[in-house]
Amino acid sequence: MNIPRTSYPRVVIIGGGFAGIALAKKLSKQEVQVVLLDKHNYHTFQPLLYQVSTGGLEPDSIAYPIRKILKDFPNFYFRLAHVQEINTQKNKLKTDIGNLKFDYLVVASGSQTNYFGHSEIEKYSMAMKTIPQSLNLRSLILENFEEALLTSDLNERNALMNFVIVGGGPTGVELAGALAEIKKGILPKDYPDLDTRMAQIHIIQAGDCILKGMSSKASEKAEEFLEKLGVNIWKNIRVTNYDGNMVTTNSDLTFETATLIWAAGVKGSIIKGVDGEALVTRGNRLLVNEFNQVKGFNHVFAIGDVAAMVTADRPNGFPMMAQPAIQQGEQLGNNLLRIIEGKPMKPFTYKDKGAMATIGRNKAVVDLKRFKFQGIFAWYVWMFVHLFFLIGFRNRMVVFVNWVYNYIRFDREARLIIRPFKRKS
Ligand SMILES: Cc1cc2nc3c(=O)[nH]c(=O)nc-3n(C[C@H](O)[C@H](O)[C@H](O)COP(=O)(O)OP(=O)(O)OC[C@H]3O[C@@H](n4cnc5c(N)ncnc54)[C@H](O)[C@@H]3O)c2cc1C
Repeated sequence: MNIPRTSYPRVVIIGGGFAGIALAKKLSKQEVQVVLLDKHNYHTFQPLLYQVSTGGLEPDSIAYPIRKILKDFPNFYFRLAHVQEINTQKNKLKTDIGNLKFDYLVVASGSQTNYFGHSEIEKYSMAMKTIPQSLNLRSLILENFEEALLTSDLNERNALMNFVIVGGGPTGVELAGALAEIKKGILPKDYPDLDTRMAQIHIIQAGDCILKGMSSKASEKAEEFLEKLGVNIWKNIRVTNYDGNMVTTNSDLTFETATLIWAAGVKGSIIKGVDGEALVTRGNRLLVNEFNQVKGFNHVFAIGDVAAMVTADRPNGFPMMAQPAIQQGEQLGNNLLRIIEGKPMKPFTYKDKGAMATIGRNKAVVDLKRFKFQGIFAWYVWMFVHLFFLIGFRNRMVVFVNWVYNYIRFDREARLIIRPFKRKS
């Protein structure tokens, strides 16, 4: 990999997501050599992926080059590499560009879509976990309307204009809201010769409420907002299969659709070598102690979505969200420096900064520790927080300008089929 050996200890970080970047920043300008490996050369701001899928933002505005984030840090190396295996005995990694030795290893590889073993659903549904997947979804949505315009078969046309989202968490809710706004504000203008009133948006939720992790007020209000926008919410229903055309459920309900979006869950992206049964817990996450050390190791750590810090208060670990990932990255940075200085590590404590979701124009729900509010003010808060956490001044400006433009013009100009999506057969 062409990385020199120095007298400094080498910390290898797998993953340049929220957790990996927060850790790398903490270790900058310190007496350690940091090697960050990621299979992408950019950091993805996943909370805004749904806006790429629905043409509200260009993909470039929610991605940022990892090299640029860390360009001023001495002793820092980035390599575009897919890590394939970890050898904890020899302190060595195997990647698609070669092997690398480490003194300390931090697994910050995030999570991936969890299909809970439904292979047909995995084959035919659309996921929204990466930028390429969001671009696929954007293309498919637009291609469906182009096809709907051409077919004279009414069933086929309806199926092309039916969007079924599985999962009523923030991703499902935000996507449904955006699709409903497209139906209302954009489709009638773009397709005047198609009866776009027939387009339907459904959310199927296995539990008895949407936005389960938030307050009951937020959940109820989000449901009210979505219903006003014309989204159909089906609760206490589990999707059992999808063959590319028909969604079947554990009830009599079926849905004919050309687009099933799977937002029903994620699981940790664990890597071979640190995947033994004793190490992996619920959600395919690595069991870590309060210092983020992977169970049984002193020099192998895990942070962010891939790590399950199970405590008496949190039997399922911290939620797979940006804040726990950032805070664990920062804390581990401090702890690694403490180890190197021969000091004891400090346990991780989480500062809960709340949760929020937007449903659409002027509509959001926000749960802070002390205050819970919904509606237009919540929407401003949602926008401010997302702009604040986006990496890079240019990205913040571009997103802000796009949002203002979209708000004033009721528009989403990135509705482009740049890379047509070909469905798997
Ligand atoms: C659509 C969507 C919306 C979301 N909305 C919100 C929200 O509103 N608020 C919120 O708090 N959270 C939200 N989240 C969750 C949040 O994005 C994650 O919790 C957060 O990204 C976790 O950070 P991480 O660093 O653990 O992992 P990630 O950010 O996923 O980063 C992992 C990195 O590891 C790399 N990687 C993985 N495996 C390998 C490998 N083998 N070799 C090399 N590199 C590898 C990946 O390329 C990636 O860059 C959302 C997630 C999604 C998908």
